[in-house]
Amino acid sequence: MEQLVWRAGCGAALASLLLPALGSAQPFQLPTANRALFEKGGEERFFVGTVGKPWTTGTFGCVRSGGNQMHEGLDIRCLQRDKHGEPIDPVLATADGTVVYINNRPALSNYGKYVVLRHQVENLEVYSLYAHLSQIRPELKPGQNVKAGQPVALMGRTTNTRSGISKDRAHVHFELDLLLNDRFAVWYQKASPDQRNDHGEWNGQNLLGLDPRLILLEQQQKGARFNLLEFVQHRPELCRVLVRKPDFPWARRYGALIRRNALAEKQGVAGYEVALDFNGVPFELVPRTASDIRGQAAFQLLAVNASEYHRNPARRLVVQKGVRWELSPHGLNLLGLLTY
Ligand SMILES: [Zn+2]
Repeated sequence: MEQLVWRAGCGAALASLLLPALGSAQPFQLPTANRALFEKGGEERFFVGTVGKPWTTGTFGCVRSGGNQMHEGLDIRCLQRDKHGEPIDPVLATADGTVVYINNRPALSNYGKYVVLRHQVENLEVYSLYAHLSQIRPELKPGQNVKAGQPVALMGRTTNTRSGISKDRAHVHFELDLLLNDRFAVWYQKASPDQRNDHGEWNGQNLLGLDPRLILLEQQQKGARFNLLEFVQHRPELCRVLVRKPDFPWARRYGALIRRNALAEKQGVAGYEVALDFNGVPFELVPRTASDIRGQAAFQLLAVNASEYHRNPARRLVVQKGVRWELSPHGLNLLGLLTY
């Protein structure tokens, strides 16, 4: 008996020694008990599509309105309901982190009640967002630390859209994001003076989504070899833009995405060549010197990957004029916010 107890104790000690290592290699957990994402053919049981549309419309990407509308997260199906058919799945922190924002006023957002957590993963500041919640744990406050797997809320179907979310489509909308600019609120007031911003920098426009499905599947497949920084660095490139600015918040926050350039480091950085993915994530920054930069424009479009644009057009960051490509108003708006 004693031996067994010891063995059990030993196993637990071993597990606690091993867990931190696994935790850093597989930083993200599923945000509910629904694990069908990892089951062959489980998509129908994991994703909730939009009304009358297939499950793919509940995934991340240009999946709505015939590919012309972006959905920046995963809509994850509910598993548990109360006697009225309302969803009651606990919503779990995807990783160790800190609460940064709680919106308890569903009328103020199409996300309804939502929570944003900040995580530090391999030198990258990553944010997770959980939306359409029915209840956020009342003791949860901004600044509080949470552990991976800790319940933060209950699934619901809150939103301020007129059509609402029906019981049968109950889901949590889950995002993994990078933060564009901590001066968002000031920029927004200037860029859209007639629009209200009730959420400070925790406005969806300021959070650039990565595909959580790709991340979770790659983690599952690669195990200890998964690396979030590498994942971000290997996003397919939509376009490359020269930004005439030596310093902006993204370059400071996501310094891990800056490629070394010895000449620019020696002569001084006058701007960056920035590679964007189809969702506008600046996943690579290459420092450039003053002599590298011609012309006076704040932003110069250097290259466009046309096939990537046609595969994922919803954000319309660039536009084709005859044989030439140009930055669209959307693209200029994003770069304006990025470098504000
Ligand atoms: Zn959604």
